Amino acid sequence: AETWQSVPLAPPDSIFKLTAAYKSDTFPQKVNLGVGAYRDDSNKPWVLPVVKKATNILLNDPALDHEYLPITGLPEFNSAAAKLILGKDSVALREQRVASSQTISGTGANHLGALFLSRFYTFNGPKQIYLSNPTWANHHAIFKNVGIEPVDYAYFDPKTVGLDFDGFISALKSAPERSPFLLHACAHNPTGVDPTEEQWEKIADVFLQKKHFAFFDCAYQGFASGDLDRDAWAVRYFEGRNVPMLVCQSFAKNAGLYGERVGALHFIGVDKAATERIKSQVSVLQRSEISNPPSHGARIMALIMNDEALFEQWKEDIRTMAHRIIDMRKKLHHVLTQELHTPGNWDHILRQIGMFSFTGLNAAQSAAMVEKAHIYMTGNGRISMTGINSKNLHYVAESLDKAVK
Ligand code: PLP
Repeated sequence: AETWQSVPLAPPDSIFKLTAAYKSDTFPQKVNLGVGAYRDDSNKPWVLPVVKKATNILLNDPALDHEYLPITGLPEFNSAAAKLILGKDSVALREQRVASSQTISGTGANHLGALFLSRFYTFNGPKQIYLSNPTWANHHAIFKNVGIEPVDYAYFDPKTVGLDFDGFISALKSAPERSPFLLHACAHNPTGVDPTEEQWEKIADVFLQKKHFAFFDCAYQGFASGDLDRDAWAVRYFEGRNVPMLVCQSFAKNAGLYGERVGALHFIGVDKAATERIKSQVSVLQRSEISNPPSHGARIMALIMNDEALFEQWKEDIRTMAHRIIDMRKKLHHVLTQELHTPGNWDHILRQIGMFSFTGLNAAQSAAMVEKAHIYMTGNGRISMTGINSKNLHYVAESLDKAVK
């Protein structure tokens, strides 16, 4: 009976807590803007038509079995996933300098990448990784779990509700040489604020000068702009300039495969031999962590990415999701500025990209949205654009208007 007496009760995860509060609320006009998953205009989860099609193909395949996959995953998934993020013209792919492993979605890719760093990266001083301030909260926990201490770098400027570019550059410059920096490849979570291409170029310059390592987290390829290639721009640019790097990739959002846990981790090596050594060690780590990754979601994505017609349909489905979100940004901005004449500048709603938007609301205003309007959002002022639809848009806008007045 004494064994677990000293285990303290952990606080609930704030996002999951918010969802539970939303679910138990009986107010008819309640809105959930905390959710990190796509909803259609009727506020329903959306199974992509291309995923339905691929699932049917799998179900009707008489050769399908439930054997183990290789330790590093389904080879035809890994190679297609690498090509998707790095592009068909990738020099690293051509030179066989990419070590790809299938992971438990993006979270698993971040974990495996972090674990590999903690084992094999030659840290210049204490084991540290630089994370944007703010970042996806799980990044902190993932790195701490493997003994790497997170350090904040300047990223978001509350005054402009935009990028603190100068702060970011000076953080890169003042960090010790060879520091790992985590970069959101596109659609920064939670702010929706991304560097421009010109800014990425300058960021890459400093990475090269300081020999920093780029730990790219790419959870929203295609979901941000509606275009898979456009959202991969920063990753491909860094690869082209030979910045030392890895990429964590998730198919949760862009294929709506949240619960299937489909992801990949890609290391870019200096040459083919180094890349093979990396892959062998990733394989050893993966073996003791999960033995081998799950097959179903990877098979779905392998079918979609390796078949021209299915791939075209996926791109269409991605456009459907991304453009609904972009449309909601435009409409929300319009109602706030043209109809309600809400005080303040709201252009950041249009400038920001991806699922999330930092509204600029402070903690008290965000709390008022929850308590007075039954609109569930996090205390940092972040809203998920996918919770907004043509039916609740006016209610959300009016409530934002009241909250800031
Ligand atoms: N990285 C970022 C920045 C995210 O926002 C998310 C999901 O919210 C993930 C990684 C990983 O998600 P998943 O493990 O579902 O792929």
